Amino acid sequence: MANTPYPQSYYAASANPVPERPPLQDDVETDVCVIGAGYTGLSSALFLLENGLRVTVLEAARVGFGASGRNGGQIVNSYSRDIDVIERSVGPKQAQLLGQMAFEGGRIIRERIARYNIQCDLKDGGVFAALSNKQMGHLESQKKLWERFGHTQLELLDQRRIREVVNCDQYVGGMLDMSGGHIHPLNLALGEAAAVESLGGRIHEQSPAVRIERGANPVVHTPQGKVRAKFIIVAGNAYLGNLVPELAAKSMPCGTQVITTEPLGDALAKSLLPQDYCVEDCNYLLDYYRLSGDKRLIFGGGVVYGARDPANIEAIIRPKMLKAFPQLKDVKIDYAWTGNFLLTLSRLPQVGRLGDNIYYSQGCSGHGVTYTHLAGKVLAEALRGQAERFDAFADLPHYPFPGGQLLRTPFSALGAWYYTMRDKLGI
Ligand SMILES: Cc1cc2nc3c(=O)[nH]c(=O)nc-3n(C[C@H](O)[C@H](O)[C@H](O)COP(=O)(O)OP(=O)(O)OC[C@H]3O[C@@H](n4cnc5c(N)ncnc54)[C@H](O)[C@@H]3O)c2cc1C
Repeated sequence: MANTPYPQSYYAASANPVPERPPLQDDVETDVCVIGAGYTGLSSALFLLENGLRVTVLEAARVGFGASGRNGGQIVNSYSRDIDVIERSVGPKQAQLLGQMAFEGGRIIRERIARYNIQCDLKDGGVFAALSNKQMGHLESQKKLWERFGHTQLELLDQRRIREVVNCDQYVGGMLDMSGGHIHPLNLALGEAAAVESLGGRIHEQSPAVRIERGANPVVHTPQGKVRAKFIIVAGNAYLGNLVPELAAKSMPCGTQVITTEPLGDALAKSLLPQDYCVEDCNYLLDYYRLSGDKRLIFGGGVVYGARDPANIEAIIRPKMLKAFPQLKDVKIDYAWTGNFLLTLSRLPQVGRLGDNIYYSQGCSGHGVTYTHLAGKVLAEALRGQAERFDAFADLPHYPFPGGQLLRTPFSALGAWYYTMRDKLGI
């Protein structure tokens, strides 16, 4: 049987020790079968177990194999589309509910880390960096908007002040969110998996769900076993493939790439990011970076629509890093990898139910570290009969990509080119 290892990332190389979790080889019965051990699946499993349900998690490869174990590690609040855009397309009650939830994911992460003593290098503080006055104006209105929903740990940074927190002369200003921050993403996922098991949950790695037998008593089949469950949660996101064909039409897997330098040493690291905040710029196709626990620079950017793996990641991302920090020109890149996230046309998550007992959440379109933790809570609430918050997401409209499965990639690349040009021209 195929044994899929972690990609060769800095995170896999610096992961906390973990047990191998054997493939499912028997016929088991449980309350909830979760498909996918990324943040969505693990967060759902934890909330369900904490409420006394029995849970079995099936993971096609390893815990955190997908985006959750490869991402930039940035705890970014709110969604990939901001609440004012949501307000314009849905009714006030739904928008209010979604706005109230937009900052909950970050709190869930911090509670999990504290409660289960997860060692994942948590640091507070995230910066949104503006490359133009137009982007700065957007941050000013975003601050007011977020404050309307009670999110207050925000500070606007002028040009002088942003230079104190990021030693890069590209920015005209920015916004600091002290309830943002960063983590070692794979170690967070591994800690959450250990928490699932500490509560009696079962996790099987190398156990892809290959078929779902739907009906009143659904059964999930893996190559060597099956899980009979009352409910199923589908949490495979960009790695799900065609297991649930209804979910594939309105979303598109996209790749984004990350590089990691050799350790920089304390002095050089501190000269780049003196307070150790993480940073993302405000471009449509954004750059994001931060320091690791052992003082490397982890730098990500770029999007490959359709999620083909690029041949030379370092050649794509290193020039972006050197544009921000030319002083790193002699620094060696130790790791380079790619990972897939799932894009929807609205850039809002796709959440819902198929029949009575198959639930799903996917497609948070780039910013997902906080949302996926919230999603686990909202899915668990819905399974337990409290669906008001779930419905606020499930009622969001979603549309197929123009061009269908065949042409959606070139059409989306064209759209991204248009927004990139707008960013470059500052209009
Ligand atoms: C390179 C990169 C950088 C990013 N940086 C950030 C960032 O800094 N901040 C931020 O907020 N967001 C970031 N994101 C987005 C964020 O990581 C994701 O939104 C989030 O991790 C998605 O979690 P998930 O659990 O839904 O999916 P995933 O983590 O992808 O997990 C899905 C899991 O399901 C498994 N699976 C799939 N199909 C099956 C099957 N049939 N049977 C069993 N298992 C299956 C997969 O193997 C995988 O482990 C980034 C994404 C990428 C790719």
